[in-house]
Order: sequence, then structure tokens, then C-alpha cells
Amino acid sequence: MKTTFLTLLLLVISFASYTQTIILIKNVNVWDGTSNSLSTNLSVLIEDNLIKKVAKNISEPNGAMVLDGGGKTLIPGLSDAHVHLSATMSGSEARNDAHWMYTAIKTAKAAENFLMLGFTTVRDLGGPVFGVKRAVDEGLVPGPRIYPSGAYISQTSGHGDFRSANEPSVLLSGGQMHASDALGWSFVVDGVPEVLKAARENLRHGATQLKVMAGGGIASDFDPIHSVQFTAEELEAAVQAATDWDTYVAVHIYESKGAIRALNAGVKCLDHGHLINEETVKLIKEKDAWLVPQAFWTETPASFWVPGKDTIPKALYKKIKPVLEGTDTVFKLAKKYDINVGFGSDAYGALGYEAYALTEFTTRTSWYSPLEILKQATSENARLFNLSGKINPYREGKLGVIEAGAYADLLIYEGNPLEDIEVVAHPEKNLKLIMKDGKVYKNEL
Ligand SMILES: [Zn+2]
Repeated sequence: MKTTFLTLLLLVISFASYTQTIILIKNVNVWDGTSNSLSTNLSVLIEDNLIKKVAKNISEPNGAMVLDGGGKTLIPGLSDAHVHLSATMSGSEARNDAHWMYTAIKTAKAAENFLMLGFTTVRDLGGPVFGVKRAVDEGLVPGPRIYPSGAYISQTSGHGDFRSANEPSVLLSGGQMHASDALGWSFVVDGVPEVLKAARENLRHGATQLKVMAGGGIASDFDPIHSVQFTAEELEAAVQAATDWDTYVAVHIYESKGAIRALNAGVKCLDHGHLINEETVKLIKEKDAWLVPQAFWTETPASFWVPGKDTIPKALYKKIKPVLEGTDTVFKLAKKYDINVGFGSDAYGALGYEAYALTEFTTRTSWYSPLEILKQATSENARLFNLSGKINPYREGKLGVIEAGAYADLLIYEGNPLEDIEVVAHPEKNLKLIMKDGKVYKNEL
């Protein structure tokens, strides 16, 4: 009896000491992430980390913090479906020279930079990021929500095999691990059992999807762009491991042959895909899969590819050129067949390079309207992130929309990005409020 009374008393005390944070944003024009236009002069009520109500004339609740939006535009927080938060240094520096702790701190800084550009969610497509994801979720450091993939899964001599010419294979080095494997950058594996082990190792650490290298890449020395990587059986093994955890596989791929093999193995997301043909795009449609291509590469200076340099070495340029030339074709095909297209920039490099992600908005206007691009970067990306199923870490509310019950991830801009996408491209000038999970990270209202 005594214990029951004590328990009750404790319950009352704990309820009483729980205080809700209530924020009322008044006088804003709202784009909800899916509609074709703004709704004018609305209020948005936020309770803790969720949106409670969106309506005209919401009366001020007791104790609410009130923000006057001044007739500016409120939209859902942006998302980027292809980032590498930990890739802030050259590969060899990160693997061989930098202490892992230094890498981690730079990774946290990159996460903060993305948030301050207006990205409240990112899908990290490879690299050691689990610790930073946890720290962001715990509120230790500012950053976007992170869907981590963990280490790249690559075959020997694939796009994730970062060994230098003189580093022997693990088979020839007495089983000694390479730095990139040990530090969580990549698993270089061959054959079904090794692919399964790598996939499950990533899932064990909290990967929300798997990143598999299914074809040649630009930033790797030992795989031509046209190379097809992993056999159908190996790809199917990765898909099986992912599906058993209720999630999916995203692959790095440029060309059709590897893309078709991956789609037929059950892969749900093709990242890049600049050189795929019409048949492949039709197959993406048929499988209801996703494509995440990059447009802004066509407008980057040489220093984006080779930091500190104003020319691109010939061998590297040979790899980049066809990819850039394919950009127009793949976006036209994607639009023609109305396939699922995610917004993913793959903007990585030195700290500050995150801002290149914003040029993805302006360069996509060659094929899409500002409305279509903003949908891709909000509600459409959220549909892609939902493929993580039961291991999606953010299931308390919806992402990428402004509606009752959604996460309070939102931005307020001076100007209307639906009319002029440049508004989003210049956050230092136009972005007046950043809220993620109900918490304000920037307020210039
Ligand atoms: Zn990438």
C-alpha cells in the first residue's frame, strides 16, 4: 500500500515537472511540401518536436513563445539524399594521416554546415558517420537528421577499394585490415558470404540503408567508369540482408549494364546514373525504384574536383567528361518517364563545400520547375527515406511536409522560393529561421 502511494506521488511529481515547449509562428505564407502553391496568412503551432496545427488565426496558448513571420514564406526543412559528411579531406589524408578523432570533429562541423544551409535531413551514402549521427540525435552537436549507410560495400578493385598501388590485398597481407576498412570507410569484399558479412556489419552499427558500389567511379583509380561491379548473386545477397532488416540497397552506378543488373537484383535506388539509357529508365519505372542524379557537377570549377587546383588532370577529366555530358539526357529521360527522382547533391570535400548542394537547386531548373525541385528536396525525398521501413529512426512524425503530426522541421525565407529558386540558394541573405525537431537554430525574424 505504502509503495503504491509512493509510486503515485512520484508519478504526479514527474507529470508536474514535465513542461511542454509551445511555439506559435504567426503571419506566414506556407508551402506544405506537396501542394502546388502557397497558402497565405497562416499560423503554425508547434508542441515540443511536432507540428500540432496549421490554420488561420490560432489563438495563443498559455506560455507559448510567439514568432511573427512577417508575411514571409514557411516551407518544410530541406533534405539531401546523397551526402558524405565524413569526407571532408582527401581520401588518403583521412585514411592515413588524420587522427580519427579529428575526422569525427570535422564530420560534426560538416553536419552543422548542412543544417545552417537549411538541410534538416540528410541521407549519408558512405563513410564513418554513426557516432556523429548519435551525437546529433542526442543534441550534443547541431546537425541534420542523418540516415547513415556506414561503410561502402565494394568489390576488390571497385569504387570503394581505396588501397594505393602498393597496398596488398587483405588475402596477401596475412589478413591484416587496411586503414579504410578499420576506420569504417569501406568493406572490400568478394563473394556472397563476404558481402553478407559486410552488409550485416553495417546493419549492426545502425545503417538505415546499405550503399553498394555497382560500377565504376570518378574518384577511384582502379575501376574504369564502364566497369560492372559485383555479380548478380553478390548484389542479391546485399538486397537479401537489407530486406531481412526491412530496408533497401542504394547503389553507386553510372552505366546501364550495372544499373539493370542492380535493379533486377532488387536494388531500390540508383545514385548518379548519368549514363543510363532509355531501357534502364523504363525499368526504374517498372520497378518503382529511385534515381538520384546530380546536375550541379556541370557547373563546378576544377577546384571542386581537385581542391586547390584550377585544372583537372587529364586522366581524371577523361572519367568526368562523359558523366557531365550524360547529365542532360538522364534528366530528360527521368522527366519523360516521370520516375521517382530524389534530390541528392553528393557535395563533399573541404569544409564549406557543403554549399555546392545549393547549386543543385539552381542547375535542376534546366529540366524542372522550382516547385518540382522543392518537392524532390522535401516530400519526395521523405518517401525515399521511408524505404528504410521499420529501421527508419525518425518515425514519430512525417518528414518533408508541413502538417499536423509532422516533425517540426521548417524554414522561413524572405521571398517566395516557388517563384524564384534563387531564394533557397542564398540562405545567408534569405533564410530567416531554421527549426529542426522543434528547436530553433537560426532566428533572424
Ligand atoms: Zn557519393
